Amino acid sequence: MTCTKSRNRMTFERLKYYRHLGGGALTCIKSRLSKTPKPLCFSLMVTNKCNCNCDFCFWKHKSDHDDMPLEEIQRLIKEAGEIGYLDSILWGGEPLLRQDFTEICKASHDAGLYTKIATNGWFLQENPGFGQYTDLMFVSLDAIGKAHDDIRHLPGICDRVMNGVEYHKVHSPKMRIYVCCTVSAQTDFEQIKEVAQYCKDADILLYFTVNKSNQSLEEAQNVKDTELESDQLKEVFIKIKDLKKQGFPIRNSDYFMDYIIDKKNYYECHWPRISTVIYSDGNMLQCYDRQPFINVRGRALKDVIKDPVFVESVNKCKDCKLACVGNYALDASGLWKLEWPAIKSLMQIAIT
Ligand code: SF4
Ligand code: SF4
Repeated sequence: MTCTKSRNRMTFERLKYYRHLGGGALTCIKSRLSKTPKPLCFSLMVTNKCNCNCDFCFWKHKSDHDDMPLEEIQRLIKEAGEIGYLDSILWGGEPLLRQDFTEICKASHDAGLYTKIATNGWFLQENPGFGQYTDLMFVSLDAIGKAHDDIRHLPGICDRVMNGVEYHKVHSPKMRIYVCCTVSAQTDFEQIKEVAQYCKDADILLYFTVNKSNQSLEEAQNVKDTELESDQLKEVFIKIKDLKKQGFPIRNSDYFMDYIIDKKNYYECHWPRISTVIYSDGNMLQCYDRQPFINVRGRALKDVIKDPVFVESVNKCKDCKLACVGNYALDASGLWKLEWPAIKSLMQIAIT
């Protein structure tokens, strides 16, 4: 009789994840007690270039500037580790278009950050070195087969994602692999279920993201066009929650899913206090209007996050009425406020 062990089982390596979560909770508490934010998540768009052309892309109107060079990125990441950030998320555009992406991931790993990346999966085998320095990879997959190729406007990408996942299961055995599936008007529940079945069969994890645009932004019209109405989102998430109960490897928190199922449309957001988001030209953009408000190029990161312009901008977030839910802002804000349903829900995810 053969006994195969799940690659998602509890291991000594995964204790790092607990340190990360525990440290996150402590940092949130410290941040609550201080007027000066103590962010813990370092989020860096390493390039604005992409080989896909998704209709729901938030960034397609912001691809007209140069990316920061490797040396500047390495400096910023090193400083983030020294200041006390706990984790990084490296994304794009498509980060694996950068031939120096392995070195960027190494810098994050060497700085002691729990290192996560987000990729569309096209180059997983062509540019695979990142896997040895990455703790967790999100790879996009919204449907199976041609349906995914059509959503991403890139024929063959579904096959490349699946082949790349198999490659990294072998060559990057310690890296946790998440499929990131965008719930939009471009997929239906049957397609979503096929993605869940694929993740279960492939022994990888699944996270659903919801695109919700800032309604005041003209440039987000393409995102608005692919959004589901709240009634439709509710129906889909009732079924997704049921799949999770049936044992599909879904890692959205119940806190997140219940918010959507209950059709809530407001929560007090603390995401910008928790996560520092830097765009590929070194600008930080205000999340509520996506206007640049400060730049990190040539400046020590510790000075930037103490700058009154930064402090004032991120402290405004709690009055924001936009209620984005697609990027952990909701879960993180629940944790920040020490709300028990959020804590319980995230603890359940951590042990499974
Ligand atoms: S893969 Fe991501 S960055 Fe590229 S076009 Fe699609 S949504 Fe935008
Ligand atoms: S809800 Fe939070 S993350 Fe979204 S725009 Fe407002 S402050 Fe930013």
